[in-house]
Amino acid sequence: MEVNNVELVMSAVSPTQYPTTGYPEIALVGRSNVGKSSLTNVLINRRSYARTSSQPGKTQTLNFYKVEEDLYFVDVPGYGYAKVSRQEREKWGEMIETYLTQREQLKGVISLVDARHEPSQEDVQMYQWLSYYEIPILVVATKSDKIVRGKWNKQESIIKKKLEFDKKDSFIMFSAQTKMGKEDIWKWIETQAFG
Ligand code: GDP
Repeated sequence: MEVNNVELVMSAVSPTQYPTTGYPEIALVGRSNVGKSSLTNVLINRRSYARTSSQPGKTQTLNFYKVEEDLYFVDVPGYGYAKVSRQEREKWGEMIETYLTQREQLKGVISLVDARHEPSQEDVQMYQWLSYYEIPILVVATKSDKIVRGKWNKQESIIKKKLEFDKKDSFIMFSAQTKMGKEDIWKWIETQAFG
């Protein structure tokens, strides 16, 4: 998809604040610093559509980005903040659980993991949780330019094994630097969003 126009339309915490236009939505999840902003920027051909790496401890919201008049990307705030309080974590958990389990427009979730490492316990939990709710998942392994090509297959196996990856889901190696994987990610998005 060729994207020219993207705008942040809504920062929401509760369902009453979600957009009401009814476009399909694709959510992006992953721990902070995994490369979520970078991936989004590549998908929408922008150098920067928003800040990269939100600060730990700041108010966390679901950010809805309208892509043309077609769909929304929903930036789900990163997990794995050590610094936030338990109460803050619980609020975050409730917010994303409500969104991910109750949002009819949600057509799929892109779950980002770092291509270089074994997925963290939180990556695994998120993947298992999304699977349980039968939400279509695309696992994107980011920063693949940081590992040599000869190790991509091995890393893919390590990641899939740790996640207990289900064959019905999809997996794509990605690099924001080389843009490798961009077209395949768009294909997956379009299939989920528009059938
Ligand atoms: P976010 O917190 O998940 O939004 O992560 P960012 O997109 O801000 O990326 C975190 C850091 O990783 C930044 O310094 C990026 O430049 C870097 N980064 C993200 N994606 C890639 C990638 O594909 N390759 C490389 N080499 N660096 C990346």
